[in-house]
Amino acid sequence: MKTKGNLIVISGPSGSGKGTVCQGLFRELDNLHLSISATTRNPRGEERHGVDYYFLTREQFKSMIAGDQLLEWANVYGNYYGTPQQPVIDAVNRGLDVILEIDVQGALNVKSKYPHCVLIFLIPPSRAELEMRLTNRGTDSAGEIEHRLQWAEKEIKEVHKYDYLVINDDLVAATKRVCAIITAERCRPRVFDIDSLLQKY
Ligand code: 5GP
Repeated sequence: MKTKGNLIVISGPSGSGKGTVCQGLFRELDNLHLSISATTRNPRGEERHGVDYYFLTREQFKSMIAGDQLLEWANVYGNYYGTPQQPVIDAVNRGLDVILEIDVQGALNVKSKYPHCVLIFLIPPSRAELEMRLTNRGTDSAGEIEHRLQWAEKEIKEVHKYDYLVINDDLVAATKRVCAIITAERCRPRVFDIDSLLQKY
């Protein structure tokens, strides 16, 4: 009786635990689809094309913009990132909730295009905690960590434009809260086919 899926946008600074929370969502909930973004940045570590990202050249990325193939795109830390549009539309039309793990600029662009989308902001409890997580992760230089902390400070100022704020003080608890948000959003009357529901009454 559900007609369409929801667009669920999850943002948060690098080191906020977004990726891990998203993995947890797929263990807890059915009917989800994770959007795979396109990016011009180079793959890190074990990352694979078509699994973690579509790794594109700047020319390929620009031709996707020109062909109107991106739902949104943004320049993050000097690289382009964008959400391929068609897979999102197909999944939503199949009744799946689509998870977009994207930055604040992208999230606000999605909101202006699709006002019913759900914006969730995930942050660690403090700057000190974020710094510790970035340091412990061991993937970034001191300069990059400082850059990410400054970026985080800028992004957090936009949190009032989001629908939900989840403080990631504990991974299990934070994942449960995001699951609860998605579950609640599935109960909005607008996601149901009200006509066929009314025929039963
Ligand atoms: P990373 O390079 O660490 O994987 O991602 C850097 C930032 O880009 C993160 O904040 C991530 O959420 C964001 N990002 C990833 N994919 C997209 C996308 O398709 N669109 C936008 N606007 N941001 C993205």
